[in-house]
Amino acid sequence: MSDEKIVLYDSDQAAHRGVPPEGWISARGNWFGNMPHSEDMARSDGCTHKKCPVCKENVIEKNRWQCSECSAKRIDESFQSLEEVEWCFDSWPVCLCNGEHYFFDEDELEFYIEHHMELGYDCFAVAGLDLVNCKPIFAPELDEDHFELPDEDGDLNRLPSPIYEAVLQYNKAVRECEEPTSWMPGNKRLKVKARP
Ligand SMILES: [Zn+2]
Repeated sequence: MSDEKIVLYDSDQAAHRGVPPEGWISARGNWFGNMPHSEDMARSDGCTHKKCPVCKENVIEKNRWQCSECSAKRIDESFQSLEEVEWCFDSWPVCLCNGEHYFFDEDELEFYIEHHMELGYDCFAVAGLDLVNCKPIFAPELDEDHFELPDEDGDLNRLPSPIYEAVLQYNKAVRECEEPTSWMPGNKRLKVKARP
């Protein structure tokens, strides 16, 4: 726990009304006037923490959207809402539904379980993970028109032809390449099936 003093959004320390001139003043001494949003702006400036806007209970740092509990609940709800498919260690990569860990083979999955879950590696432990399939992300093609910027006369500056040719060449390579540049979580929930 740090020694930092916690100032909640709706506490008297976050902001107060003061003069002169009449208006809202934050704990940092900034004056926000007397407009409809002045109180909100002064409190936001002066506070360090606020109540989680989702559960309205837990205290979070003011720049966060929600508390860890609400965030975990939201991730679990979105995981449960995905279509379920059976998975028998036969398609890789797979990942946790929040995208925090990707597994490219069974060794990586085993390593993760042994080091993060304090469980032996077996189907039961794997089934306890929120695993989803992965969707490939391919390199994007370049839009050659993107480089045609108007000059001060409003005429389009065309790309010099060696560069234009290189863009076409690049796009050809992108279309022909079957290897993804990265992966993202897919939309299928994996139901782990024991190996036959
Ligand atoms: Zn919350």
